[in-house]
Amino acid sequence: MKVAKFGGTSLADANQFKKVADIIKADEERKFIVVSAPGKRHEHDFKITDLLIRLGEAYVKEEKYKSYYITIVDRFSQIINDLELDESLMNEIEDRIKQVMELDLEFNEKLDHFKAIGEDSSAKILSQYLQKLGLEASYVNPKDAGILLEDTPTGAKLSDKSYDRIYQLRDRGGILVIPGFFGYTEDGKLLTFSRGGSDITGAIVAAGVKASLYENFTDVDSVYTVNPKIVENPKPIELLTYREMRELSYAGFSVFHDEALIPAFKANIPVEIKNTNNPLKKGTLIVSNKKPNDNCVVGIASDTGFSSIYVSKFLMNRELGFGRKLLQIFEEEGVSFEHVPSGIDEMTVIVRDSQLGDKEERIVERIKNELHPDTVAVHHNLALIMVVGEGMKETIGMAQRATTALGEAKVNIEMINQGSSEVSMMFGIKANDLHRAIKSLYREFFEQE
Ligand code: ASP
Repeated sequence: MKVAKFGGTSLADANQFKKVADIIKADEERKFIVVSAPGKRHEHDFKITDLLIRLGEAYVKEEKYKSYYITIVDRFSQIINDLELDESLMNEIEDRIKQVMELDLEFNEKLDHFKAIGEDSSAKILSQYLQKLGLEASYVNPKDAGILLEDTPTGAKLSDKSYDRIYQLRDRGGILVIPGFFGYTEDGKLLTFSRGGSDITGAIVAAGVKASLYENFTDVDSVYTVNPKIVENPKPIELLTYREMRELSYAGFSVFHDEALIPAFKANIPVEIKNTNNPLKKGTLIVSNKKPNDNCVVGIASDTGFSSIYVSKFLMNRELGFGRKLLQIFEEEGVSFEHVPSGIDEMTVIVRDSQLGDKEERIVERIKNELHPDTVAVHHNLALIMVVGEGMKETIGMAQRATTALGEAKVNIEMINQGSSEVSMMFGIKANDLHRAIKSLYREFFEQE
């Protein structure tokens, strides 16, 4: 039994719903279907979830909300009309929006109810459409699917009790269409995951029903070896491990929601990324383990928006607790760090600019006053490049190939970091050099073979 999750662009209009239905029909193992809210039909379009958020905010703040309401209702009625489904479904969706407007809840809770309408409506439309095509299909609310959540300060977390409940879905007949992105706590509170969170629902359902495969349908054929905005037509990645995917998505590969792979990973379920618009094309398969092959670099990821705080002090290596005290300052200021490359007498703390915000001056002052270093220097506009591949640990000369490629591109390396697991090598460079660096690394690792 497979779980297939369809993202927002796969359900953006009636035509996309038809493609989704064809995909479901083509393989009878596709029994559990998880859906997103309708996404963008074209670059300048709106995602339904964004419209629902605006509607919710405007309504609660007693601002003008009608235009959002009308746009949302129009989008759904167009889909329902084009699929020639019963008009009563549109009434049901509209009634739900009105009901949510009237809910007497505090702001965030009410907003969660608004956000969930997108996925919930998608699932109802799809299940009705599958029924119209003569398939045995039903809509299953996350509560009935057994997706039980806990409300934690860092967001919605899956309760341990969920998996046994979700497993029972296997006994239900027909195709089950489950809305992604939200669930309920034991006392009935509706919670949504962070944005893009339908991927999480998909992975939870896959782990819960012990699926043979979790198919994640999106609008790209596969994961690419490098950002297609930097290198034209890069090679696709056919096979990837979870750890490689994690390293790639850390540095800018945005195919997956960060947390989404965890449930599938823990349950050892292979994940396949496929294109709704090109479903016969081979996608990218993500697995726990793979045999080493010749091409040990699988992808090169990069991201900008980092800063480094460099601290040096003579005889730092002998000063007990220096590193802890330095990192504690970041912790106390609420800034999480990304990497800490160090030397005998120096440490550099790399942080995302979004984390640093306006706290830079205060942190620098605290380091000076509390640690009495010789130097503290902050550098902005850093980019990080991750050269990723599990096979690197068994292969000699990988770092040399990478640094030569960067040297040939006349890129100055500000920092090198290779974790002990050797899944990736990381280079810190000036953001301005990024495109040149990536192109040269791509040539070295993917065009030579
Ligand atoms: N609809 C939600 C969002 O736009 C969740 C998702 O699509 O995965 O973030």
